Amino acid sequence: MTKDRGEKRVALVTGSTSGIGMAIAEQLAKDGFTIAFHSKSSVLVGQSLVEAHLGAYYFQADLSDQSQTCDLIAKVLSHYGRLDVLVNNAGISATIPHTFLKEATPEIWRDLYEVNVIAPWTLIAEAENALRQSSSRECPSCILNISSHAGIRPKGASIPYSVSKAALNHMTKLLALSLAPLIRVNAIAPGLVETPMSKNWTAARKLWEKRSPMGRGAQPEEIAQMASMLVASHYITGEILISDGGLNLT
Ligand code: NAD
Repeated sequence: MTKDRGEKRVALVTGSTSGIGMAIAEQLAKDGFTIAFHSKSSVLVGQSLVEAHLGAYYFQADLSDQSQTCDLIAKVLSHYGRLDVLVNNAGISATIPHTFLKEATPEIWRDLYEVNVIAPWTLIAEAENALRQSSSRECPSCILNISSHAGIRPKGASIPYSVSKAALNHMTKLLALSLAPLIRVNAIAPGLVETPMSKNWTAARKLWEKRSPMGRGAQPEEIAQMASMLVASHYITGEILISDGGLNLT
């Protein structure tokens, strides 16, 4: 049983005004969660999502800025007084051929690490106490990180992007150990998903159509189904669930 104070459980989904994050937020709303929507800048979309979901609220924060990242958790707790699920979905990519080493500048590395690695870490550290408070051994609170299959295999839009997602995957396993048993930590590692981020990934799309057993990339709603399952499965922790339509088999 949760420490239920008669309130609905609250899920914060970062980057939830588009793509995978929006699909996960809408699925968790269907699953009975109150949703804290978040994005860097799409305020109007955020507000329209709030109108469509009872109890939802929109929070704007640039996760490349440490103080805004810390404030995001403080604002969610000030609004709801609890947090049960944190989905670290917000992320950025950079497309650089893997052989063009000088194009992958230290600045690009830092930008990617700031949003894809340091922000999730900061959000988890800031949310830890609240997640513990709403948790019980039978129904632990839950952190879900959206990484990438490129963080597992030597592939991806650029080496810095893939390495940032590998770091997020490893962080997932380390934190699953250190936050158990009251907080579970898992990740989903998608292959190609049809979102604004991937709209110009023509070569990747061709690869998935030609080589993956499913013959296509995923829709965001298919990643959201996996998120729903991981959030609801109270015994799963430390898993990196790959969603690549079987590409790894070929
Ligand atoms: P998207 O561009 O639709 O969404 C990215 C989200 O991240 C946006 O909502 C944006 O507001 C947020 N974001 C970006 N920079 C931010 C910042 N500085 N501060 C706050 N929020 C910021 O793309 P998507 O495909 O839905 O991506 C979601 C996640 O899935 C990302 O972590 C991405 O790396 C990962 N992913 C995507 C694919 C794919 O093929 N689309 C594949 C593997 C992994």
